[in-house]
Amino acid sequence: MTAFEFSQMENIHWLPVEPEKLIQRRKIPLYTYEQFSELTQDPVSALIQEYGPDGFSTTACGSPIIIYNKGQNPGRKRWTLMHELSHIVLGHLDQCGGMQPHRQMRDRFDRHADFFTVNALAPLPVLGLCRANTESMIQRMTGLSREASRYRLKELSDGSCTNWGFSSQTVRGYSEQFAEYIDYVIDGDFYADWDFDTEMEYLLRPSRKKNQPTKPRPMRHCTYYLPRRPAPQPYVPSKAEQERFDRLEEEYYDALFEEWYGEK
Ligand SMILES: [Zn+2]
Repeated sequence: MTAFEFSQMENIHWLPVEPEKLIQRRKIPLYTYEQFSELTQDPVSALIQEYGPDGFSTTACGSPIIIYNKGQNPGRKRWTLMHELSHIVLGHLDQCGGMQPHRQMRDRFDRHADFFTVNALAPLPVLGLCRANTESMIQRMTGLSREASRYRLKELSDGSCTNWGFSSQTVRGYSEQFAEYIDYVIDGDFYADWDFDTEMEYLLRPSRKKNQPTKPRPMRHCTYYLPRRPAPQPYVPSKAEQERFDRLEEEYYDALFEEWYGEK
């Protein structure tokens, strides 16, 4: 199943996608590590060591269940829940009978699930048709983390001449399915609803008035500090980050080829 087929099946036509609701709608039991630990008597630390800090999915009495770490920030939680739901939707649990697959297989499944997740949460054709052009806009639209949004922006600009790697039929499908949302972003209230603080903070230059206090007062949206901040530098990824981006990119394309051709 592709992410587009999934969004059609689930009738997703608005962003951000709420994987928690999709999980509830499918009546898949959702537990926190703490709740699952009480059920199984396995200490939370052992679960984290076995399955990692974010979450995992498994089967209980033949039905899928999802366990997640409630301490994650909202962006990461969204990703984790969609990732685990992807394992279920893509049939990974069935293929290994709910058991932990061995290392190599697990990596393959995880790459596939990540690829599915990013396409479900942040479909490039929708971002493109909405003319998303900054990482904070993508973050605002999709609820992804800053890092994932930055990476998505790169993919968006790289693929803008080639339908972002999708067939024109799929792009048309997205444009019909998300028509109302695209209108909301392009002509509607998306920008009006947007809290511009983050995006505009460096651009705001309040004129100094005589009666303005010389020391900054604690205010929620205090722009008084802003002129003292250094000008923003263009983002230059560190060597480690660049390597990570390159690796992620390679993995996405691996998974893409796998999805298209059934092999690498
Ligand atoms: Zn996984």
